[in-house]
Amino acid sequence: MEVRKPHSKKYDAVIIGGGSNGIAAAIHLQQQGLNTVIYEKSSVPGGATKTAEITLPGFKHDIGSTVLPMAYSSPIFQELPLEKYGLEWIYPEIPFSQTLENGKSIACYKSIEKTAAQLGKDKGSYIHFMKPLVENWDDIGEDVLGPLGIPSHPIKFLKFGLKAFPSAKFLANSLFKEAEAKALFYGAAAHSTLPLTNLFSSSFGVVLGLMAHLNGWPFPKQGAGALIEALLDYYKDLGGELILNTPIRKVSQLPESKVQVYDLTPQQLLQIQDLDLSSGYRKRLENYKYGAGVFKIDWALDGPIPFTSDKCRRSGTIHIGFSPEEMEKSEQLTAEGKISEQPYVLLVQPSIFDKSRAPEGKHTAWAYCHVPNGSEEDCTRIIENQIEKAAPGFKNLIVHKSTMNTKELEVFNPNLVGGDINGGRQDITQLFTRPVAKISPYKTSNDNVYLCSSSTPPGGGVHGMGGYNAAKQVINDHFS
Ligand SMILES: Cc1cc2nc3c(=O)[nH]c(=O)nc-3n(C[C@H](O)[C@H](O)[C@H](O)COP(=O)(O)OP(=O)(O)OC[C@H]3O[C@@H](n4cnc5c(N)ncnc54)[C@H](O)[C@@H]3O)c2cc1C
Repeated sequence: MEVRKPHSKKYDAVIIGGGSNGIAAAIHLQQQGLNTVIYEKSSVPGGATKTAEITLPGFKHDIGSTVLPMAYSSPIFQELPLEKYGLEWIYPEIPFSQTLENGKSIACYKSIEKTAAQLGKDKGSYIHFMKPLVENWDDIGEDVLGPLGIPSHPIKFLKFGLKAFPSAKFLANSLFKEAEAKALFYGAAAHSTLPLTNLFSSSFGVVLGLMAHLNGWPFPKQGAGALIEALLDYYKDLGGELILNTPIRKVSQLPESKVQVYDLTPQQLLQIQDLDLSSGYRKRLENYKYGAGVFKIDWALDGPIPFTSDKCRRSGTIHIGFSPEEMEKSEQLTAEGKISEQPYVLLVQPSIFDKSRAPEGKHTAWAYCHVPNGSEEDCTRIIENQIEKAAPGFKNLIVHKSTMNTKELEVFNPNLVGGDINGGRQDITQLFTRPVAKISPYKTSNDNVYLCSSSTPPGGGVHGMGGYNAAKQVINDHFS
């Protein structure tokens, strides 16, 4: 990506932070005929959506996100001509699977019926649960991915809310009789990084589960960074400007503009000098809560991961945990500031489906487990032990690895505060009202300063909706 110097001109909007939300905000503003520039701290844009050869030459790793069902289904990204800008989607044969004891597993296929056929007594309940979610998504998706407001289809939205509101444990126990269906749901729900007994922990299981059935869990060919490149090439063609290698520490570093839109989390916004925010608003931001962190490993491998289960070998993402009880305990321990010896592990193996990721015959994979926020614990052993249990022989295939604890993640990208990959805890107090309870959470106490990162609704994930929603608010307030 070309680095362009800002002209000494006045901009309509300056965007601080070139992650997926900052870029989405910039694109929407630029599309409305406004004049925008993005200031990005790093030499490579994309934030936690970035691809690089961090182990060995020829092995392309996604340093952060890989699997982008929310980007694929995102109302803003769907409307952009990204294929024309080189974006190609890869659809793993099986979106995700869940390991069980004795080498068994359950696959979440794109087909609801095929998935349900593995679930014995829970077959009917699974279909009854998933079908309406998938069928109603077109009507409620934009409301679910926006701030709290009056939904355009209230009854359908309410029905969705009744499924997304409870704890994963309550929902799974009330819907399903057997461990298989419960484990499959828990694996997706655990993306919330909340204890599975917490209210709202079901929300990720519901949204990610329905997305697997809606479009699969696709990812960009060549790595997640290809999405960012396509977005920025499109933005540049609209006339947008990008300034790299420029960490913003004070407002006076920025060119003159009508508004500033920050793709930062509250802790970082508070550190920007000369930013005119009221003391009341600052206090509320200081009370913002960050969630659990992750410990992440990227591997260069000598061959495909030898999962005992054929379904796991054919899946893009594998949730590793061997019973619902084990996963529940792992997530509970994290919330208590401890680390389980048998952690829930989220593993992605992109090179199985995308040959561009590794030299011929070789493979890349990554995995993380949840850890307490700010933990410096090295979880390599416990993560690799869990994988070895599901895939005996895995450790022998490791050619090279790169690990990041929560502190190292934060150095890589300061938005990952304490290793929190969702920009703040996504519990009942902060899911829709992040970073503070306000009619428009994208607005700050300063009429010209906006927030658009994953610390605003709808929260973590690559979907650009925080950016899009913030940009709509900017237009409404200043340019309509
Ligand atoms: C290991 C990991 C795995 C993940 N896996 C997935 C996945 O598979 N699918 C998925 O959907 N999501 C995943 N996520 C979450 C997803 O990546 C984030 O939710 C998403 O990137 C948030 O986008 P954002 O634009 O809000 O912030 P970010 O992507 O964090 O971007 C913020 C940007 O602001 C820049 N910045 C920070 N401070 C300054 C400053 N002072 N001045 C200028 N620039 C600054 C940063 O350098 C960064 O580029 C994962 C995240 C991680 C870390």
